[in-house]
Amino acid sequence: MVRFTAPRGTQDILPEDQPYWRYVEERLHAIAHLYGYERITPPIFEDTAIFERGVGEGTDIVEKEMYTFLDRGGKSLTLRPEFTASVVRAYIEHGMHVRPQPVKLYSIGPAFRYERPQAGRYRQHHQFNVEAIGTQDPAVDLEVMSLAWQLYDELGFRDLAFQINSTGCPRCKPGYVQALKKYYADKLSAVCEDCRRRYEQNPLRLLDCKVESCQPFIDGAPHFLDYLCDECATHFATLRGYLDALGRPYTLNHRLVRGLDYYTKTVFEVWAAGIGAQAAVCGGGRYDGLAEALGGPPTPGVGFASGIERIILTMKAQGVEVPPPPRPLALIATLGEEAKLAGIKLVTDLRAAGIPVVLAFGDRSLRSQMREASRLGVAYTLILGADEVQARQVIVRDMAAASQEPVAQGEVVAWLKAKFLSSRDGNCECAQT
Ligand code: ATP
Ligand code: MG
Repeated sequence: MVRFTAPRGTQDILPEDQPYWRYVEERLHAIAHLYGYERITPPIFEDTAIFERGVGEGTDIVEKEMYTFLDRGGKSLTLRPEFTASVVRAYIEHGMHVRPQPVKLYSIGPAFRYERPQAGRYRQHHQFNVEAIGTQDPAVDLEVMSLAWQLYDELGFRDLAFQINSTGCPRCKPGYVQALKKYYADKLSAVCEDCRRRYEQNPLRLLDCKVESCQPFIDGAPHFLDYLCDECATHFATLRGYLDALGRPYTLNHRLVRGLDYYTKTVFEVWAAGIGAQAAVCGGGRYDGLAEALGGPPTPGVGFASGIERIILTMKAQGVEVPPPPRPLALIATLGEEAKLAGIKLVTDLRAAGIPVVLAFGDRSLRSQMREASRLGVAYTLILGADEVQARQVIVRDMAAASQEPVAQGEVVAWLKAKFLSSRDGNCECAQT
C-alpha cells in the first residue's frame, strides 16, 4: 500500500502550531485596521497572463516557480505566486479609482511557488500582503513601511534591519541598466550561468545573485541611486527625510532590486535575525507601472508582502511567547448507558449556554476518562454514574484542587457558566480580539 504524505514543500499546520497562527493572524488584522486598511480576498488562481505580465517574464517567479495548469476548458490558470498582481487586477476590474485614493487593502492567504524546499522556503507558504493604490506620495511609502515596522515591533522582534533602495522609473532605469551592462560586459566569462542569462534578459537581477563567486562583482557594480532622475531622486530623498524624522534606522542597500519588473522607485526588505539563510521576513516597494501592464489606467501603488511562516520562525527563534490554545473548561465522564444519555443531554445544554465542554466517548473505565481529562488540561470533570442519575446530581471534580462536590443537575449549567465567565475574565487570551 502506498503511504501518502503531504506534497513536497507543503506542510500540515498541526493543532500544536495553531496558537502561533491564530495569534499572528489576530495581530495582522489588528495592525491593518489600525492603519486604515480593508481586507480583500482575491481568488487563489488567476489567468496565467496576469502573472506573466504583472510579475514579469524574465523573473524567477514566472520562469521557474509558477504552478500553471490547463483547466478542463483548456484555459491556462496559475496558482497565485504573490498577491500584488491580483489586487491590482481587482482594483481595475471593480473601478476602485472612483473611491478615495489611495485605496488601502490587505490580504492574508496562501501563495504557491515551485522552489527548492528548505527552512523558511516552501512551495505553499502564506503571505500577509498590504497595498496602497492610487498615489505617488512618498508618505504612503513611509506608511506601509511603518505598518511593517510596528507589526514586527509589537510581535517583539529584536535585531530588525530595514534595507532600502530606489530602482527609478522608466525614465531613468534604461540609463542605469546600460551602465550596469557596461560594467558587466568584460566579466561575463567569470560570472555564473544564471548571471549570463540575466545579463541578456533582466540585467537588474544581476544584483540579486546569491552565488558566492559572483559577490565581488556585485560589490563593485554601479549604484542605482547615482542614476536616478530628478523626480525619483526627490521622491527617495523625501522618504528618507520622513524615516529620519521618525528616527527609524535603515540601511541603504545598493544591491536591493525586487525580482519583479513592475517595481519602480522605492524597494525595501526587512531582515530579521533567526530565520537563517532566508533572512527576509518582508519585501515590498512601489509599482507605478503595474496597473498599466495589466491593461488599466496609469495608477501608482506601493505595498509589501510578509511571509507568515517566516514571521513564526522568527518568533520561535527569538523566544516570543503566544497565548496558550483555548481549552475546554470541563470533560463529562459517564459510567453506564443511563448516565451516558444524561451526559449527552448535559453536554448539549452546556454548549447551548456557550460553555466549551467535551464528552468522553467509548465504554471506558472512570480511571481512563479521568486520564483523558488530565491530558486535555480541563479545569473540571463532571462525573455521572447510575447513582448520580438517580439522585439528579452531577459530581463536579475540581482538577487543580483534587476535590469534588455534588451539584444538582438543574444547577450545573449556571454553576459552570459562572466559573467559565470568571476564568475568562482572569485570562487575557481573548483581550486582543
Ligand atoms: P526570497 O528572496 O527569499 O526568495 P522573494 O523576493 O522571492 O524572497 P517576495 O516575492 O518579496 O519574496 O515575497 C514576499 C515575502 O514572502 C518574502 O519576504 C518572504 O517572507 C515570503 N516568501 C517568499 N517566498 C517564500 C517561500 N517560498 N516560502 C516561504 N516564504 C516565502
Ligand atoms: Mg523568491
